Amino acid sequence: MKQKTKMIHGGITGDETTGAVSVPIYQVSTYKQPRAGMHTGYEYSRTGNPTRAALESLIAELEGGAAGYAFSSGMAAISAVMMLFNHGDHIILTDDVYGGTYRVMAKVFNRMGIETTFCDTSSMDHIEKAIKPNTKAVYIETPTNPLLKITDLQKVSEITKKHRLFFIVDNTFNTPYFQNPISFGADIVLHSATKYLGGHSDVVGGLVVTATKELGEQLHFIQNSTGGILGPQDAWLLMRGMKTLALRMEAHEQNARKIGQFLESHKAVQKVYDPGSPSHSGHKIAKRQSRGFGGMLSFDIGKEQHVDLVLERLKLFTIAESLGAVESLISVPARMTHASIPQDRRLELGITDGLIRVSVGIEDIDDLLEDLEQGLAPLA
Ligand SMILES: *Cc1c(COP(=O)(O)O)cnc(C)c1O
Repeated sequence: MKQKTKMIHGGITGDETTGAVSVPIYQVSTYKQPRAGMHTGYEYSRTGNPTRAALESLIAELEGGAAGYAFSSGMAAISAVMMLFNHGDHIILTDDVYGGTYRVMAKVFNRMGIETTFCDTSSMDHIEKAIKPNTKAVYIETPTNPLLKITDLQKVSEITKKHRLFFIVDNTFNTPYFQNPISFGADIVLHSATKYLGGHSDVVGGLVVTATKELGEQLHFIQNSTGGILGPQDAWLLMRGMKTLALRMEAHEQNARKIGQFLESHKAVQKVYDPGSPSHSGHKIAKRQSRGFGGMLSFDIGKEQHVDLVLERLKLFTIAESLGAVESLISVPARMTHASIPQDRRLELGITDGLIRVSVGIEDIDDLLEDLEQGLAPLA
């Protein structure tokens, strides 16, 4: 089955007992047992819920994994994955990893004895150098946020196999429609489903897929023990969103590439970070390992004062955190998503005060380009 068809027919669809074509919202906490201690597959909704199970089977199928799990947010999903590790274990992470991931590792899991090294995972040398005797996993994002750096999934997989490490990929930006890390050897793929999977800025959720059944059972043990599950209403909303993921990703992709080209040719723009552009350092790798470049791009207009001037003029780009929804969103990483990173560290990473990140929506491209043109006009 092709990816586009899986969005509609993948996992558990509909309801066998009634013939309902949409999976019902099982708003239920507990289940009748025919005999004490004997259950029908469901006993208590923290452990398992039919609506959540349908979503979990769908994401597992979309990512080509053995098992899927749905959590109350991307951070709950990431935290559950980190709980697979023990006191004294060391994990290597992408240096410009999502801010919340950095925070939970540097301020929460560090207190529980999990050590971390943040490095440029687009360089295999940097990964190899960061490996220590107690290293247990390499955790990456590709593309990264907000600079859209690309990491070679195949190469990292070779390193992790050689050193017997877990390979974990946050696949939020590219979604399973464009990229399937498990097919390159990743052990765990996770998502902030709040973004493209939901796609309509109306639900917060997280999803995890494991490559093997055994790893899935370990993760289910953690999910059931710590309880950060996704509720049935939100599980249903996510499935509703995911049915159109293919169409939306294609629209995001087309619009983003055109906006990337427009920005690259604009005089007021100093630098464009667009993995879809042949001038981007990771373009070739992205092209090899993904079926699309995604709907995210960033550009630098130099001065901080310029940023407010431009953003105030824009009418179709809402200033907001988050990404991946049908409407175009625009943000200033230095002041918003990445404000908690100390300034010198931020500048080191390339997140300047003049950097603007765009989550390109699915509006008509002519309207988006016209809006950007008039927004940038005072600087041209
Ligand atoms: C938003 C995001 C997260 C965190 O997910 P929440 O649903 O906000 O908890 C993790 N990783 C990436 C890449 C994200 O964009």
